[in-house]
Amino acid sequence: MSKKIIQVTDLHKSYGDFEAVKGISFTVFEGEIFGLLGPNGAGKSTTLEIIETLREKTSGEVWVDGLNLEKSPNEIKKIIGVQLQTSGFYPSLTLVELINLFSGLYNEKTDPLALLDKVNLRDKAKAKFKELSGGQKQRFSIATTLINQPKIIFLDEPTTGLDPQARRNLWDLIREIRNNGTTVIITTHYMDEAEVLCDRVAIIDSGKIISMNTPDKLIDELVASGFEKPKEVKQANLEDVFIHLTGKALREA
Ligand code: ADP
Ligand code: MG
Repeated sequence: MSKKIIQVTDLHKSYGDFEAVKGISFTVFEGEIFGLLGPNGAGKSTTLEIIETLREKTSGEVWVDGLNLEKSPNEIKKIIGVQLQTSGFYPSLTLVELINLFSGLYNEKTDPLALLDKVNLRDKAKAKFKELSGGQKQRFSIATTLINQPKIIFLDEPTTGLDPQARRNLWDLIREIRNNGTTVIITTHYMDEAEVLCDRVAIIDSGKIISMNTPDKLIDELVASGFEKPKEVKQANLEDVFIHLTGKALREA
């Protein structure tokens, strides 16, 4: 295995009397796509935002690429890329203007067109953010996480609300980013997505990690425990039908 890039140990977070994260520990290795899975309210975003230095933890220890969260938050900020909610972009600025704005904030020199190329949006360089489709907005927001050439990017539900074509397109983009050497931490509600995309996943429920492994091993464990699907398993599902009929090509203008 490659080196540890994130180490979280016994992380707790309370909001007033409510304990949202109840002693979470996990390790992320360099070059992984690591998934945090769990129902709404499980504590995924809270956990990510603590590692991203955007939220205070209540207790526990977090190390990011050898940097301690308490001692070196500013150094950590420099080596991570955080995806903003799409509502966080000025809607009337063009993509090039937004990239220049973010580059200024990060104090980085960026070639906007080269960056837009990476996410297949060069032809939208002069479009306003508000004119993009849902999938294009997500691709653009992922592009902005790359501006400071981060070692790790954090994607919180990047595919929620996208159609099947846009979702697959985003999977390709995320794999490409990882293949270029960036570690990816992602949350998702879609188990098919986690299964094809993530090297390892942690399943969080009510603030605790209840299981963690590769998707393949988790499935094997369940089967070994005697689990059987109640229905006869078909060779395809409705999403396969949909993609077969409508193709994989993106449907945005
Ligand atoms: P997830 O991302 O897994 O859906 P969150 O981390 O957003 O979960 O939230 C975990 C729990 O903490 C939820 O019950 C949520 O309502 C609560 N919570 C999140 N942020 C706050 C906050 N700022 N103040 C109080 N409670 C919060
Ligand atoms: Mg969340």
